[in-house]
Amino acid sequence: MTTTRFAPSPTGYIHVGNLRTALMNYLIARKAGGTFILRIDDTDPERSKEEYVDAIKQDLEWLGLTWDKVERQSERLDRYAEAADKLREIGRFYEAFETPTELDLKRKKQLNMGKPPVYDRAALTLSDAEKDALRAERGNGVWRFKLDHERIDWNDGILGDISIDAASVSDPVLIRGDGQVLYTIASVVDDTDMGVTHVVRGSDHVTNTATQIQIMSALGHGHPEFAHHSLLTGPQGEALSKRLGTLALRDLREAGVKPMALLSLMARLGSSDPVELRHEMAELVEGFDINRFGSAPTKFDADDLYPLTARYLQGLPLSAVQSHVAAAGVPEDKQEAFWGVAKENITTLKDLEGWWVLCRDGAEPLIAEEDKEFIAEAMALLPEGPYDSESWGKWTAAVKEKTGRKGKGLFMPLRKAVTGMERGPDMSALLALMETVRARG
Ligand code: GLU
Repeated sequence: MTTTRFAPSPTGYIHVGNLRTALMNYLIARKAGGTFILRIDDTDPERSKEEYVDAIKQDLEWLGLTWDKVERQSERLDRYAEAADKLREIGRFYEAFETPTELDLKRKKQLNMGKPPVYDRAALTLSDAEKDALRAERGNGVWRFKLDHERIDWNDGILGDISIDAASVSDPVLIRGDGQVLYTIASVVDDTDMGVTHVVRGSDHVTNTATQIQIMSALGHGHPEFAHHSLLTGPQGEALSKRLGTLALRDLREAGVKPMALLSLMARLGSSDPVELRHEMAELVEGFDINRFGSAPTKFDADDLYPLTARYLQGLPLSAVQSHVAAAGVPEDKQEAFWGVAKENITTLKDLEGWWVLCRDGAEPLIAEEDKEFIAEAMALLPEGPYDSESWGKWTAAVKEKTGRKGKGLFMPLRKAVTGMERGPDMSALLALMETVRARG
């Protein structure tokens, strides 16, 4: 059975980059009728925070990315210890004592000699007595997985055939000196135990994947299918990493972006299919194909989310937004008409209130010097409210007759005087909702 997982570390809020990973894994599972696991990678007790676990769940719920199961790595430490024991038993695990400074020096020397900065495995030659001495002096060492120096190959769902020479990769540290289990081994054990069949993650994990394939094999297991999506860049191709902090999902939600706008964009961005606004998750599931994504960095522009949000909102009936319309202050008997007018003229639901204030209190008139007299004449013809859907037609007909103006010369100055803006909703519908026209005096 198809099983995927989204595996965030709860060390911060999730952002658009994480969403891409979550969504792809989610869509694969749903399309196959499989299982989507939310795995909390919380093996780092210092950096992992419960508030982020809650926030991640809230963000995924907001988006409708429902999970079938939650797993927490902090509750599975015994399983990681067992795997570590097995690696020790089969001679694929060794303790190393270099300090970060020593490792750094080794890397610099290698680079100076034009060699790749791969860990030199000096620890493999230590005798037991030397290890004891180092342990006494420095405390416990780190535990490294001894890679087999052969090529590691897999067919990547996005990158195609990949082949990595294990000799070009340092033996990965799986357990720190203080005993903390690191992501690489935890992930291997979990993906195997949980029957994960497909892993989609960022292309920054490609080397991890190579080592994880070998660790899985050393532990006697096959590996899931892997796909590595490209990383997101800003609109100009600039690295997004620094700005990701401002692209947290909760900030986008706060800014009024709608889940389906965000999901519609992220389900297609970087693929050979065009971005199409979808109203239902089922449509995204249906149209998703991981193989259609490319390996080139993917440009992301948060500004694209607003036209999509606007279009999404335009397609909604009042019932879908009634609480927002009511919260903007619109009385019940006007809500249907108000939504009909407002929906074509908002980017997010935050804009509703402004339109309602305009209806209720009228707008500061915008009157050009040369139109002053004309507007004074016109306003004298505008009856007192309440207005209805015929008021605008009747009024402008009367103004036309009196002043002889027509077309744009007639309507534009009136629109500006009534709404304070050059553009906006259909005037008949808007005037019918207006309780005050300030230009009327
Ligand atoms: N916790 C890891 C991360 O956020 C998970 C990577 C993976 O999908 O294996 O980078």
